[in-house]
Amino acid sequence: MTIAADLLAWYRESRRELPWRRTRDPYAIWVSEIMLQQTRVAVVVPYWERWMQRFPTAAALAAAPLDEVLSAWSGLGYYRRARDLHRGAREVVARYGGRLPDTAAALRELPGIGRYTAGAIASIAFGRREPLVDGNVARVLARLFAIDEDIKAPATQRRLWHIAGELVPADAPGDFNQALMELGATVCVPGAPRCGDCPVAAACAARAAGRAAELPVVPARRADADKPLLAQAAAWVVRRGRLLLARRHPEGLFGGLWELPRAPDAAGLVRMFAGPGARLELAGGPPILRHRQVLSHRRLVIDVHVGRLVGRPAAAAAGPYDRIAWHGLDSLDSLGLAAASRAILTKLRENDGWTQSSERSRSSRRATRRSSRA
Ligand code: SF4
Repeated sequence: MTIAADLLAWYRESRRELPWRRTRDPYAIWVSEIMLQQTRVAVVVPYWERWMQRFPTAAALAAAPLDEVLSAWSGLGYYRRARDLHRGAREVVARYGGRLPDTAAALRELPGIGRYTAGAIASIAFGRREPLVDGNVARVLARLFAIDEDIKAPATQRRLWHIAGELVPADAPGDFNQALMELGATVCVPGAPRCGDCPVAAACAARAAGRAAELPVVPARRADADKPLLAQAAAWVVRRGRLLLARRHPEGLFGGLWELPRAPDAAGLVRMFAGPGARLELAGGPPILRHRQVLSHRRLVIDVHVGRLVGRPAAAAAGPYDRIAWHGLDSLDSLGLAAASRAILTKLRENDGWTQSSERSRSSRRATRRSSRA
């Protein structure tokens, strides 16, 4: 038996039953692949099912407003993936009449579809003999072939793609690719692989050399403390049970997401809202919350200040935002919110700062009214 035959036999016998494995619909597989990037299977299943009910075809997704798409994605993180899906669906409708193209090369021209996703859709949905390499596959191949080089290095990646291309069989490319990923997710796991349960153990060079747990070689991560610091100020403005939020321009960073209005500092926040008919007044004193977050490339510190908006928010859209609007405090869970703002809202809810900050927002308004009467 070959590696491919052993793997396929094992996969068909013991694979996990996942809803997207019951379909060959390229759109449904596309959605599942994008959702599964950096997110666990158990989290993705209910999202995928809801998504397919709400947007059952590329045409349905293309016709939906971005706000609705981001709201359906809310909780999965990495909203860029949802925006790319949305843009990709519009392109599929405009260029291909709503049907995904059936080659990896054409798929890669769509927004958010890289080499991996194109290989997955082409092989699983269209039965094309296309390889794929994701984190799981890279780990399995590095062990099977005892590859000693940094797994993320371009030369190693080229080698892994080449090996994957040699292994993938013409008669069952989709199942084979899924089998490799399944092996990496359930048996050839990071740290301590379960070689005793492995269907390709006899062919594994790392196991033969007693080096399975040492591989793959992964580059050391940059220490969090070495990442540059970005300090920001955010406004917490509540009026009659509704919170003031700003939506980022669709084309920019975190495009289309809502967040607490943010600027480099408190003065910048006030300037952002200054204009005919609108003015932001911040309560004095320390921020109600200091939020810290480490991102992949920087550390973020956001000081949240209670404030009051005078005038209509629509007149105040500025800076990185295309819209500023009130949102009910009880409807925020279903809104496409940037991760930092969602974390801030969760913290304020947990320590009851929500009520206190809303109270401070009210007293700030009363103080402003008193001073303007004086
Ligand atoms: Fe991974 Fe062990 Fe199987 Fe090799 S034998 S592929 S290290 S689980």
